[in-house]
Amino acid sequence: MLVSVDQIIADTIGKASADLRALSLAIHDHPETALKEAKASKAICDYLAQRGFQITRQAGSLPTAFVSTYTSPKGAHNGLYIGFCAELDALPGIGHGCGHNLIAISGVAMFLALAAAMEACGLPGTVKLYGTPAEEAIGGKIIMLKEGLFQGCDLLMMLHPASGYTGQWHSQCCVSVTVEYFGKASHAAMAPWDGINAGSAATIALQSMGVLREQLRPDWRTHGIITHGGQAANVIPAYSRIEYTYRTGWEEDIGVLRERVHNVFASAALATGCTHKITEEFAYLDNLDNPVLGRLYEDLMQEEYRVPPVRGDGLGGSTDFGNLSKEFISLHGMFDLDGSGVPNHTLEFAARARSEIAHERVLFAAKSCAKVAAKCLVDAEFWSNVKKAKRATRNQINHS
Ligand SMILES: [Zn+2]
Ligand SMILES: [Zn+2]
Repeated sequence: MLVSVDQIIADTIGKASADLRALSLAIHDHPETALKEAKASKAICDYLAQRGFQITRQAGSLPTAFVSTYTSPKGAHNGLYIGFCAELDALPGIGHGCGHNLIAISGVAMFLALAAAMEACGLPGTVKLYGTPAEEAIGGKIIMLKEGLFQGCDLLMMLHPASGYTGQWHSQCCVSVTVEYFGKASHAAMAPWDGINAGSAATIALQSMGVLREQLRPDWRTHGIITHGGQAANVIPAYSRIEYTYRTGWEEDIGVLRERVHNVFASAALATGCTHKITEEFAYLDNLDNPVLGRLYEDLMQEEYRVPPVRGDGLGGSTDFGNLSKEFISLHGMFDLDGSGVPNHTLEFAARARSEIAHERVLFAAKSCAKVAAKCLVDAEFWSNVKKAKRATRNQINHS
């Protein structure tokens, strides 16, 4: 091999930088929320189609999901099947406050880099780019997983901007529910005693949840909003609706918290005389990265940034990629957005996600992560160590 695989990766991503910047800004400046990422999905598919890659648009049941495939001229046999995820969705009201425009182009960058490395170095294998919608809402990856779109993958990877970088992000297990209270309408002044106040049930539920929060473990979270609390101040509300999320650090604890949270919702119904219904919308499992992949990613990042990675449960949050991490060898690499420490899901983060420095940082992270993927292709001993590696346990994470 005259040119190293790492050099091909760096050159390929470097040459695509202007195109990737244009894609990133197009996605950022037209933020589309979950399942509405039509423009973002089309922009990436069109770009890859122009470059001759095979594209399946509307992959599976989600209209904005896609899969782009590259198979080495040496064939897929005896090679690895590596997948990268590109998230696409924005947040209601704050646009790309989670920087998914950067995630989208990091996936494209790594896909292009691995395809180029396979081609130039005659490495067998398959590389796929998955357009994975609705990470912020219903967990598009979970639906794509159930529909078999990741079947056969040896390795799945993606990147995400945050405050700090890590290759060993242990995310929280997260369940989202809708709670409805059903009461009885009545005139709020002439006959309030005839009413059953569903709005009060929602209020009590959130207040009780605030009290419960005092007794929760440090890595547990509960949070939610009232999306329907009544329609007129002079009518006792007959109906109310809450969207609520509860999280634990580890999947095995979620059942304990579920019971306590459900008791709170039931107690609010009992206190007000309402009936209630809880609908579980989706569950994201806790992400655990492959430690061998994660350490190499961190080493490459540390060489550049000269600061240690964030460890333990320091970054918080959840991802539908966690469900993939339970089924596949995987890495959900975090990179530092721009060194400002601004938290995700804010307008400030959204503004910084279109900055030049964020673009430089996402491309550096994509080069680092693609080099980790390429090492799996060219270094049989490394790949064997990856396959043998045990994912971190609760004890290790809490003391790292
Ligand atoms: Zn987010
Ligand atoms: Zn995100």
